[in-house]
Amino acid sequence: VKYAGKNNYMFFNKEMTEKLKEQIQIERILRDAIKEEGFNLLYQPQVCTYTGKIVGFEALLRIKNKRISPGLFIPIAEDNGMIIEIGRWVTKEAINQIRTWKKIGVPIKPIAINFSAKQLNDSNYIAFLKDQLKENNVEAKHIEIEITESIFLDKKEETIVFLNQLKNLGIKIALDDFGTGYSSLSYLTFLPVDKIKLDKSLCDKFLELEHISVMDNIISLAHSLKLEVLAEGIENIEQFKRLKLGGCNYVQGYLFSKPVEVMEVAKIYNDNFLE
Ligand code: C2E
Ligand code: CA
Ligand code: CA
Ligand code: CA
Repeated sequence: VKYAGKNNYMFFNKEMTEKLKEQIQIERILRDAIKEEGFNLLYQPQVCTYTGKIVGFEALLRIKNKRISPGLFIPIAEDNGMIIEIGRWVTKEAINQIRTWKKIGVPIKPIAINFSAKQLNDSNYIAFLKDQLKENNVEAKHIEIEITESIFLDKKEETIVFLNQLKNLGIKIALDDFGTGYSSLSYLTFLPVDKIKLDKSLCDKFLELEHISVMDNIISLAHSLKLEVLAEGIENIEQFKRLKLGGCNYVQGYLFSKPVEVMEVAKIYNDNFLE
């Protein structure tokens, strides 16, 4: 018994050591990526359910030549504070991309960037964003910011002030991962958001009969609050059709496109996903 206990302890210990090692390694990779332009953005189209056209893109961060998912490295960057610099890089890169589209003369489609709650600690973010827009001659309406409910966990008043500053600039705000938190519905009545993004976990199961009316109700509630609705993680045509019937404005998911390199964006830019 004693022996087994000891083995258990050692196993646990080894697992923790491995995890710590991995974390340290990722921190090093992140530090290098910040220094050496080691990040890039992939773009995933957001499609209008009525026209089938791409209305915008979500920018999703990757580390060049590494297969580490943001689900793993973003929380580490949030913990060690690197997310501040990374967040600024993402902002700058998205704005640069809009400028490029302007330069080559294609109709501009907005880019949505993910904004971590930890970036609220970046006290000069708004000024930085304003400068970047101005410097690149990009309109604020071409950048959208995705936040999650976690941003309201503490400093609620300050957060609302911050979001209103963004809105006053002309930036649109989307509430990401909707349906995964707690008080989602009540939040919607007082938060300065323009759009909600229904989480993949909701979209995965709404086709089951007992969930369909819930989905329809969420969509009409959002609409009654003058919010647009985007459904995420759409992988099959049945989901798409039913969401469209329910009045969902936009969809995003592998059914239309995976997140792609910027070179690939040109190939799908004018596609119609209903044709
Ligand atoms: P998210 O913001 O909820 O992004 C959606 C995730 O779902 C992305 O994963 C996307 O590639 C994936 N996805 C899209 N359509 C489908 C689908 O049809 N099926 C499936 N199975 N997955 C789909 P990704 O790119 O791995 O990003 C994971 C998370 O990392 C994001 O979740 C976001 O929270 C975070 N993240 C990514 N880029 C950034 C960034 O630049 N800044 C911050 N703060 N977080 C980021
Ligand atoms: Ca997102
Ligand atoms: Ca999401
Ligand atoms: Ca997420």
